[in-house]
Amino acid sequence: MNTVLEVDVISGVPACRAPLRLRLDGSALQDNWRALDRLSGGAACGAAVKADGYGLGASAVASQLATAGCRDFFVSNWSEAQRLASLGLSLSVFHGVRADDVAAAHAGFARPVLNTPEQIIRWRGSGGGVCDVMVDTGMNRLGVDLTNVADGLLVGLEIDTLMSHLACAEEAGGVNERQRSVFAALAGQTGARRMSLANSAGVALGPAYHFDLTRPGLALYGGVSRPELAGVLSAVVRIEAQVIQRRRVLRGDTVGYSATWTASADSEIAVLNIGYADGYLRAFSNLGLARWQGNSLCVVGRVSMDLTAVDCTEAPTLREGDWVSLDFGLPHASTNTGASQYELLTGLGNRYDKIWNCPPKALTADL
Ligand SMILES: *Cc1c(COP(=O)(O)O)cnc(C)c1O
Repeated sequence: MNTVLEVDVISGVPACRAPLRLRLDGSALQDNWRALDRLSGGAACGAAVKADGYGLGASAVASQLATAGCRDFFVSNWSEAQRLASLGLSLSVFHGVRADDVAAAHAGFARPVLNTPEQIIRWRGSGGGVCDVMVDTGMNRLGVDLTNVADGLLVGLEIDTLMSHLACAEEAGGVNERQRSVFAALAGQTGARRMSLANSAGVALGPAYHFDLTRPGLALYGGVSRPELAGVLSAVVRIEAQVIQRRRVLRGDTVGYSATWTASADSEIAVLNIGYADGYLRAFSNLGLARWQGNSLCVVGRVSMDLTAVDCTEAPTLREGDWVSLDFGLPHASTNTGASQYELLTGLGNRYDKIWNCPPKALTADL
C-alpha cells in the first residue's frame, strides 16, 4: 500500500497535518471507471472531472484514470482546465468560450464545447480549430438549438465530438427516448468525428444511449444514480476526523447549539474535528454515525460549523487524538440528509488532507 499525503509547502512554515482527512481509494476509482468502460460496450468511456473531480481532487483523479486507460476528460471552465494542463490529457471545457477565454482556448491544452451561436461566432472569429459542440435535445440548459443546426450554424466547424445531455437519465420514462432519438437523427449531419450523450445514469440506460463516447462523473466516485449500477460500483471516499475532547455529561445535560439532545443517562461524549463547513451537513444532527474499532457512535446534538459530538459511552478507551470514521455512504447519506449524492461530494470543502491509497504508478503526474 502506498500512502501519499498532499500538503501545501509554504516556505518556512512547517507542514501541518489537518485534523480531518479523506481516505481516497484509487483502486476503487479505477475499478469504477473499468466497470463503466465495460458497460459502455464499443463506445469509449471518458470522465467528468469538473468541480475539482467532484471534490476529490481533479489532478489526482485524472492522472489515476489516465493510468487506467481513460482518454477523454471534461471540466466546466478554463480555470479548471488550466489546473490540469500539465497532465497533457485530452480535455474538453463544457461551458465553451467567453471573450475572456479565447487566449486559453487557443493555447492547445483543451478544446471548448461550443454551446451558443455567439460562442461559435467567437470561435470562428478567433481562428477556430478543433472543438466540440453541445446540442440541446430537450433539457433547455446549454446547447445550440436543432433549428440552428438545420440552418447550417455548424457548417465548416472542425467538430471532434457532438454532444447532448440527458435531463432525466436517473428516471424511467419517455423523455430519455425522445432525447435519444432526436440526437441519433443528427448522425452524419454535422461532420463531427464522434457523438456523445450519456452521463453516468445514461451509461446504465443501455447500448442505444452510448454512441461513440460516454461521459460519466458521479459513478466514477462511487455515486449510484440508477439501480443497475448498485452492484457494480465501489465507494471511493471515506471521511475521518480526530477527537479533540472527551467529556462526561450527566443525565439531563444537553449537548450543542439549541440544546437539541438531552442525555437520558450519564454519558460520555467525544467532540470531533469536523462540521458543516466540511460538508458534514447539519442534517446529520442527531442522526449521523461514526465508527471506531467496531463501535458505532451516534451523533448527538447539532452539527456545528467545525465540530460534531458523538456518544462514546460504549467506547471507554476512545481518547483525544484518536481518529474515527464517519458514515458517508453516498446513496444512504443522500436519503438521510435530502442532499443529492452530487451535493454531498462536491460540498466536502477544502480542510481535509486527501490521502490516496493507490497503485504507485498512478501518482507520478500528480504530486
Ligand atoms: C456533469 C456532466 C456529466 C457527468 O454527469 P454525471 O451525472 O456526474 O455522470 C456529463 N455531461 C455533462 C454535460 C455534464 O455537465
